[in-house]
Order: sequence, then C-alpha cells, then structure tokens
Amino acid sequence: MKLFFRYPNILLLSIASLALQAKAASDHGHKQHEAHLHGSAELTLAIEADSLEISLESPAANIVGFEHRATSPEQVNAATKAQAALNSAERLFSFTGSSCYLQKASIDMSAIIEPDQAHDTHEKHHAGDGDHEHHDDEEDSHSELSAVYHYQCKSGADISGITVNLHDYFPAIENLKIMWLTDSGQGAVELTGEAKFVRLR
Ligand SMILES: [Zn+2]
Repeated sequence: MKLFFRYPNILLLSIASLALQAKAASDHGHKQHEAHLHGSAELTLAIEADSLEISLESPAANIVGFEHRATSPEQVNAATKAQAALNSAERLFSFTGSSCYLQKASIDMSAIIEPDQAHDTHEKHHAGDGDHEHHDDEEDSHSELSAVYHYQCKSGADISGITVNLHDYFPAIENLKIMWLTDSGQGAVELTGEAKFVRLR
C-alpha cells in the first residue's frame, strides 16, 4: 500500500506511538486488522507543510453492509453507490482555517468488487490462486475497504480543524477513531454518532 508514501518516516513513528501496529502490518499484504470491529473505522490525517493526506480504513460492513465479493445486482449496486460516495471528498471532508483542494482520491474496494466490476486494473485474477478464492468460507471472513485523499492546501499551518461527514453517508460507522499529525503536534480523538468536528490546534 502507498498510504504514506510521501512521508513514511514521521508517520511510521507516529503510527507506532499511536499503537497502530496493526495498520502497519496490514500494509504488507492484506492481513486483517487486529481490531476489525464492525461499527468502528479509522481515519488518519497528516498535514506536512501544505500537503494534507487523509486515509480511511473501515470494515466493508460499515460501508456496503457485507464483506464478501459482491455477487448479486443489489450488492454490486450497493458497492457502486458506496464507491461514488467515497469519491465525493468535497461532501465527506471540509477544513477550517485554510482552503484545500483535492488532488487525488484512491478508493480501494478490491475486497468486495472484482477487478472487472470496478473498472480498474488491480492484479489479475489467476485461476487457482487461493488468495482470491474465498467463496467456501466467505461467511467467516472479514474484509476492509480503504480510501486515501490527497489535498494541497493554501496554508497547511493555518488548518485548525476538519469536519468529517462520514457518518452522514455511512451511518453504520458509529465510532470513528481519528489519528492526526501536523508539523506542530499530533493527537487522537474518537468521533461517535453525530459528532464531526476534529480540532487540530
Ligand atoms: Zn467484518
């Protein structure tokens, strides 16, 4: 994964100090989070100079209501809708103190949408590749979705808060754990229910 490609060192430190080893481990393959908890999701927010990166990791159940490959038309439809909502960064996040412009959004729903359904070019499906053949035990398996948003801000140092509207679009996210890191500090906060503002300074 390339979540923190731009500043791996600070973030690795930060991630370790915030006890997010599970996330780091999941970056090397598609292992489950140790804390895969339906109703909970994790958001990481990093501001370095005028660059701002937000990454979301959530059990798929919170986003689409299931965690296996989308097979029925209803499931494919739910996945398509969720993907569109995740792609609407301007509705999901807003910033206080400076304006920020979305440069790139990467939505990874490969756990539930086959590559051909998602119209993108994830690794090819090899016949007999056990990694992608979970149909026998899919009732027991869990899967995660992730999204990464990269912004360029007018003045990263002036961003004093972020409003997160995820619960409006994905009400199954009852509890959002947010880890944030700026040039001047870091912190962690949990948003529950309707709460949506994260104060950074
Ligand atoms: Zn699950």
